Amino acid sequence: MRTRTLAGLLPGILLPALLAAQQRPISPPPPGQAAPAGLVASDRTPAVQRAQTLLVRAGRLIDGLADRPLADQGIVVEGERIAFVGPWAEARRRAAGARVIDLSRATVLPGLIESHTHLLLQGDPTAASYEEQLLRQSTPYRAILGARNAQWALQQGFTALRDMETEGAMYADVDIKRAINTGEIVGPRLWVATRSFAPTGMYPITTPNWEIDLPHGVQVVDGPDEIRRAVREQVRRGADLIKFYADRRYFLDSAGALRSWVNFTDEELRAMVDEAHRLGRPVAAHAVGRDGLESALRAGVNSIEHGYGITDSLARVMAERGVYWCPTIYVNVYVAPGRAADGNPIYGQMVEIERSAFASALRAGVPIAFGTDVGGFPWTEPIAREFTYLVRYGMTPMQAIKTATSVGAALLGQQANLGAVAAGRYADLIAVNGDPLAEIAELERVVWVMKGGVVYKDSR
Ligand SMILES: [Zn+2]
Repeated sequence: MRTRTLAGLLPGILLPALLAAQQRPISPPPPGQAAPAGLVASDRTPAVQRAQTLLVRAGRLIDGLADRPLADQGIVVEGERIAFVGPWAEARRRAAGARVIDLSRATVLPGLIESHTHLLLQGDPTAASYEEQLLRQSTPYRAILGARNAQWALQQGFTALRDMETEGAMYADVDIKRAINTGEIVGPRLWVATRSFAPTGMYPITTPNWEIDLPHGVQVVDGPDEIRRAVREQVRRGADLIKFYADRRYFLDSAGALRSWVNFTDEELRAMVDEAHRLGRPVAAHAVGRDGLESALRAGVNSIEHGYGITDSLARVMAERGVYWCPTIYVNVYVAPGRAADGNPIYGQMVEIERSAFASALRAGVPIAFGTDVGGFPWTEPIAREFTYLVRYGMTPMQAIKTATSVGAALLGQQANLGAVAAGRYADLIAVNGDPLAEIAELERVVWVMKGGVVYKDSR
């Protein structure tokens, strides 16, 4: 009966795999290996599953909003959203007869939000690894790897990603998002930046051979009019946000401050931000040195990516204006040795510089969102490793968790849908066996994942 119902709903769409995905727990793919076929599921199939009410029993609940965990809670899931959260006895009364998912010995949290990823990159610590991907891999090949990366992210408990440009793979991020939303592949909810902007000659790959034009990792744009047109083009192709490169050529000045060369004129950036906001899209600036940061903040951007050169005074401006910061600490730690050896010794110093930027941002109250730049380092590394650095740099474990839950949701403008275990929001939930407030690295060992009321992993 169930099979026939599904077949009616889904003529010819991966039915055996769907049934397999529904009926047995899904184990995580080992890093570097293809995921099992049983991971293939469909948003349309789980509609059958979603019709039912589920009751999740959480031994310990970190809801993404409160400052303390709650003991023995019940979460009633109706369809793809949470209908009720409260003490277990009350939840059970409200959802009598519902199928129970017993996580009474685990810690339940909201699905994690990663605010700076590159699905279309496989790590680029050196110029050679970057060129290998842009010059020797087709966009379809890169998109296949991107789809796999999306699946891996979900398996690690990241139920939403803000993907921060395709690095030459055009609008393949829009395609991956579409394939997830139509249920053709499994992955997190995506917000995508598409191609990103830099002016002529100010972004790799460049060559001294002026007779050839090599592929670009960005959309090259110059002048306010061209920039307005390019923003419109990206939005028409599916960009959820606009990203640009504010600076390059990072250096330390005689006072030891991290400085940079600015890419766009103020006039150009004003046009970019104005056009993006007119079309309802936030703007994210890759900005590393003080000069790039000042230029981005003058233009009125919504978020700073990397921001290693943030000072006390810049942090105060960001806090006052509510400009978010994605610190991407782990990529810095990961790529520093390779890039320093590659002829950029400044990268060797940036890790410590960022540590002091982090202290400034914490003191000033800058809203800090969890973003790793994964793709800048290989997807085989645990995304949640970043949490350890957030805590090491001065956050409490609860603060660190909020960067990837309620703060991440606010950055996406999705407070009504994501980032908390609360009635009305999507039933995007994860569980770990231990207590991440005692040991933050526990978040690298997510054992159970639900997205939109559908369980995608259960390896308890
Ligand atoms: Zn990035």
